[in-house]
Amino acid sequence: MADSHASAAPKASSAQRSEPRTSEEFSAGARVGVLLPLPLAGVYDYLVPEETSLSPGDIVEAPLGKRVLTAVVWGAGAGDVAESKLKTLLGRFAVPPLPEAERRFIDWVADYTLAPPGAVLRMALSAPQALQPPAPRRALVAAAAPEDMKITPARQRVLAAAADGFARPAAELAREAGVSAGVLKALVKAGALREVELAPARHFPLPDPATLGPKLSKAQGAAAAALRATLAECGFSVTLLDGVTGSGKTEVYFEAVAAALEAGRQVLVLLPEIALSAAWLKRFETRFGVRPAVWHSEVGHAERKRAWRAVAEGEARVVVGARSALFLPYAELGLIVVDEEHEAAFKQEDGVIYQARDMAVVRAKLGAFPIVLVSATPSLETLVNVEAGRYGHLELPERHGGALQPAVELVDLRRVQPEKIALASGEKLQSWLSPPLRQAISETLAAGEQGLLFLNRRGYAPLTLCRACGHRLQCPSCTAWLVEHRLTGRLQCHHCGFAAPLPKVCPGCEAADSFAACGPGVERLEEELRALYPEARIGVMSSDSITGPAMAERFLAAVQNHELDLVIGTQIIAKGHHFPMLTLVGVVDGDLGLAGGDLRASERTYQLLHQVAGRAGRAERPGKVLLQTTDPANPVMQALAAGDRDAFFRREIEARKEHRNPPFARLAAVIVSGPDADALDAFCGRITKAVPRDGGFEVHGPAPAPLAVLRGRHRRRFLLRCRRELHIQTLLRRWLAGLRPPGAIRLQIDVDPYSFM
Ligand code: ADP
Ligand code: ZN
Repeated sequence: MADSHASAAPKASSAQRSEPRTSEEFSAGARVGVLLPLPLAGVYDYLVPEETSLSPGDIVEAPLGKRVLTAVVWGAGAGDVAESKLKTLLGRFAVPPLPEAERRFIDWVADYTLAPPGAVLRMALSAPQALQPPAPRRALVAAAAPEDMKITPARQRVLAAAADGFARPAAELAREAGVSAGVLKALVKAGALREVELAPARHFPLPDPATLGPKLSKAQGAAAAALRATLAECGFSVTLLDGVTGSGKTEVYFEAVAAALEAGRQVLVLLPEIALSAAWLKRFETRFGVRPAVWHSEVGHAERKRAWRAVAEGEARVVVGARSALFLPYAELGLIVVDEEHEAAFKQEDGVIYQARDMAVVRAKLGAFPIVLVSATPSLETLVNVEAGRYGHLELPERHGGALQPAVELVDLRRVQPEKIALASGEKLQSWLSPPLRQAISETLAAGEQGLLFLNRRGYAPLTLCRACGHRLQCPSCTAWLVEHRLTGRLQCHHCGFAAPLPKVCPGCEAADSFAACGPGVERLEEELRALYPEARIGVMSSDSITGPAMAERFLAAVQNHELDLVIGTQIIAKGHHFPMLTLVGVVDGDLGLAGGDLRASERTYQLLHQVAGRAGRAERPGKVLLQTTDPANPVMQALAAGDRDAFFRREIEARKEHRNPPFARLAAVIVSGPDADALDAFCGRITKAVPRDGGFEVHGPAPAPLAVLRGRHRRRFLLRCRRELHIQTLLRRWLAGLRPPGAIRLQIDVDPYSFM
């Protein structure tokens, strides 16, 4: 077979972007533009096979070189390659075509992120097995047996079981009658049983929007009515549902889900950490009578296949998923809910780099339906959009049932320092808990209540160094210190997974057993709590100790059922869980997230600590939060202590304006990486030379990335900043157009960067 690279001609996809795709049809022999799921520049022309007609969105098999790819008809062919050179498509899959809104969405995301459209398409075709028709379900049903048929006791049992006239799969009938498959075969042959084909199984039963939810409070009812009104309007709108933790936001947006279902539309709910939210699924089931389709990276092949097809065929009415669920081929999508919309987890950082919350707004716009953003601590970007009147705003200012917001007290670590703990052995243990926090823990335990100690640091200690020479243990392939994990007895790199035992002698000065741990991680905090409160039942929740959704569910249930007195957790415990007996939250190191130059450091620290604080006192018992910090004057700490979110965001907004940071300017990062530093720097030189001279924007860099070496690759960053009114994608295209990274060098573009590592 000839290599078809030459015959299949690339065609700029931008030419097609604005074309209306009404019910075009391409008949046999016609030329069609086909988008391949590959990082290519555009659409390739193919011919429609004989006795076939194709429409835009049809999923087809396209030959390319020696391969056969699953691809999608994108529109009419470009016609710039001689027809004799074109290949013919191999066939069409018997699945619904990708809807027009979905195709426009793929083009839009590609255009915005500067990713090749085929790379975005690949995310939409992420369950290739779903394209194969489901295996037919055969069954046996009783038929009129010939008079003279020999009746054995086994045959008698089969006929008795089948006498009710229902069709049963053979295995089931054999089991019921207690006979072998051979007996059934003989009965089919004799004509006493008939084979029939059953309708395909329904995996996603219809949710029932009519089931009543709880009786809503006045504020909840008003918010729910407002959301129902946006659905009745049948058009695009964005609404922020803004309410303190425990105010009933989930109950309220369930009303919007019900309204969309009543209107015959599909619903997508995006959650940041779907794998950990068994509680959410249970609540959904209570409200709607069935489980929704679930979509995230840990969903197995069989379920993915079923869910993808059911979404495309309109059988699955509600999908709850992580960001990748945005790219499913919804037949009738009519509402998106983004819960915890401020979460950084919505930003995908590799492959196609995109912010799922922002792209969800685009998807709603293209589909002309409403989207609801939900948070107790909305992102600054969203609040600015509310202020500008672009987004609607619904507020739930009170916790349901009148539970009070916990009081946040700052503990100034410069004044009250943790005292060392004298162990029975005479040794002294370093402490990370100040006297006021220790006292609060004692009181909580004495009252028979629970405490949560929050420390967003995995492992035993963030840094391990030689007492004799100060040598620090660094990852051999990353710019990162190794983190000691006593649980596994190893040092680990949190960036590349490198792990090694603690060396016996220091590689710097050859002193023996000279390594000391610096600073606390959750494992070290556990050691301290066990020494201080030997009677207490203590558990740790971090991504090292809790390795899967089932384990997380068990752990959370143990906290809920008061099987633990003290819980130590990293950020994975901060979100959405409801613990009725938890009355104390101690933040061990409130300053942790503030270091580093990330423009969102304050905002994120505020959001995270607010979420953590929200774990305290969610039921009748009032909660208390002690926040240890060395910088109590910091606006983040002040806002948390005063419970004044608005003041904090007003300040942050001013600071962003002043420093021309998003959303008051546009940013894009260009990250280049490669195994050889000199070659990389040479390429960076070419990038710098190519910066267009005609102003309107600034380019910073190249600078070594904070993670200057990652997995053995050197990394350099450029940052492009321009006014909001400018089209940053056009600037990037002009700048980078002629620059092909040589050899093993890779160039990534991150529009609206969230990570600056
Ligand atoms: P949020 O999403 O704002 O944190 P939730 O919707 O999870 O709040 O509500 C917090 C708790 O209060 C949940 O257990 C929820 O079932 C309960 N709740 C909220 N509103 C009501 C209501 N109107 N009637 C009964 N229970 C409610
Ligand atoms: Zn590493």
